[in-house]
Amino acid sequence: MKRLLLLLLGLSSVAQAVPVQALYPDEVRFVTANAEFTLLHEMGHLLISELQLPVLGREEDAADQLGFMGLFLLHERQRDADFYAKLLDVADYWRLEWQRQRPEAPEVREWDSHALDAQRFFNLACLAYGSDPRQLEWVIQMTGLPDERAFYCPEEYQQVEYAVNWIRQHFARRADQPIRHHLRVEYQTPPLHLPEARELLEKVRASGELEGIAARTSSTFALPRDLKLIVAACGEANAWYNRISGELTLCYERILYFRELARELPRLRQTALQETPPTL
Ligand SMILES: [Zn+2]
Repeated sequence: MKRLLLLLLGLSSVAQAVPVQALYPDEVRFVTANAEFTLLHEMGHLLISELQLPVLGREEDAADQLGFMGLFLLHERQRDADFYAKLLDVADYWRLEWQRQRPEAPEVREWDSHALDAQRFFNLACLAYGSDPRQLEWVIQMTGLPDERAFYCPEEYQQVEYAVNWIRQHFARRADQPIRHHLRVEYQTPPLHLPEARELLEKVRASGELEGIAARTSSTFALPRDLKLIVAACGEANAWYNRISGELTLCYERILYFRELARELPRLRQTALQETPPTL
């Protein structure tokens, strides 16, 4: 089946080398990639709500797809091994959640509005591979994405890309339209008992990345009202969009949690490599 799939995709049956960036976990890259994806997933909810985008299927799945495509828009000029390693980091976050050792048996919430962690992992791995099947065959090796799914991933990616381009064409602010409303960034000072969050605040603020994303959102779309992106200490590792107040909240704890989880990444990569040794 694998051989047939490769032939159909026009790929050689010689396994592609896994780039070193993906082989060796990088804590800073993992945390940055997942903080960006979390923010862009919530931006997906923001755009669905504020622009009244039509949504077929579950909104949570749509927000993951918008978040994923947001990474391509955010790093539009960067399509190198480091960028692809970031996509793997984002998918692997959900694999770590799925396979995390928990003291009690993990609760599987079939009724939840979000897909199960394992499904979010495979959905994102599929989109990552499908975004460039000729370059990213190694994503199949690293994620264990079954051939039955991988075969359709280029098509899945094209469908999502088409939808996002359609949204950009239909909801973009016209060049002659003034920017009436803005998405503004507000940092709340973390409490003294969270010194790590205080350090994080300095780093995030110095990077100017959030201001960049907010300014780009305000200029790309004609937002119907002023909105806020708040970075705050929430008492939980979370992020959400409040469609009543028009406030997107990203918690310091969520970003710090990524750092904690990144420590488990070597185990994950090691297992993937033992199963399919890289061709170097
Ligand atoms: Zn969501």
